[in-house]
Amino acid sequence: MNATLTFLGSGTSMAVPTLGCPCAVCVSAYDPASPNRRTRPSVLVAYGGHNVVIDTGQDFQMQAVRENLSAVDAVLYTHGHADHVLGMDDLRPLSFALPEGLPLYADDATADVIERIFEYTFTKVDRYPASARVVLHRTATAAGTEIPLFGATFVRVPVMHGPSTIAGYRFGSAAYLTDMSDIPEESFALLENLDILVLDALRREPHPSHSHLAKSIELVERIGPKRAFFTHISHGLEHASTNASLPEHIRLAHDGLRLTFNISDSKDIVDSTDIA
Ligand SMILES: [Zn+2]
Ligand SMILES: [Zn+2]
Repeated sequence: MNATLTFLGSGTSMAVPTLGCPCAVCVSAYDPASPNRRTRPSVLVAYGGHNVVIDTGQDFQMQAVRENLSAVDAVLYTHGHADHVLGMDDLRPLSFALPEGLPLYADDATADVIERIFEYTFTKVDRYPASARVVLHRTATAAGTEIPLFGATFVRVPVMHGPSTIAGYRFGSAAYLTDMSDIPEESFALLENLDILVLDALRREPHPSHSHLAKSIELVERIGPKRAFFTHISHGLEHASTNASLPEHIRLAHDGLRLTFNISDSKDIVDSTDIA
């Protein structure tokens, strides 16, 4: 089944331009057309008439407007940091259209944060009547945990984010690993035969909770996807000049970048090969 992966946002938690920063990348990013303008990290996975979003940060409403996104069928969360969850409330108008509620998927640590921030949405007592009509599903944290959605399967790929282990996701021939400083050994087996690998690459210098450019390039070489795209990018990486320095199969993502891939389960691909 064909799918598209759209980068709703490709920036780090402080976004680019970063407020108050006079650097050349930030100054250039005041031009809305600049690829250096990076909103908070999020992707849209669209297939078979369904829209699945991974993370809703502070910029979700404007990202959805930009991409003409008028319906969301499910949201998966990677972890509970502000740049990944604070836009949950922007799902309200889209959730009202769904009688069963809009399903959200998050592990316990992330679900706890979402419930705490949006307490008025989840409380059973005197619930604010116009709050988001969402149903929060708590997911297991084991590597390889499967979340089946609309004929595709989203597989949890644990990644290290500084001291925490958070969720990356593999879906068909693509994987999205944002906010990643390292990949535990057990996760590599879940990343074989990828057409598209999306990895965190914050800047050139090492950082305690995010991978940096040289390390992410090494990880791409080890994992061996056909193409790799870096996200969660700070003002430390200018778009055009950084891309010019990268191998041909590795690119910086940018807001609005759209990729096509196959979201069929890998076992289905094997099956169809057998039949052929
Ligand atoms: Zn982040
Ligand atoms: Zn984070």
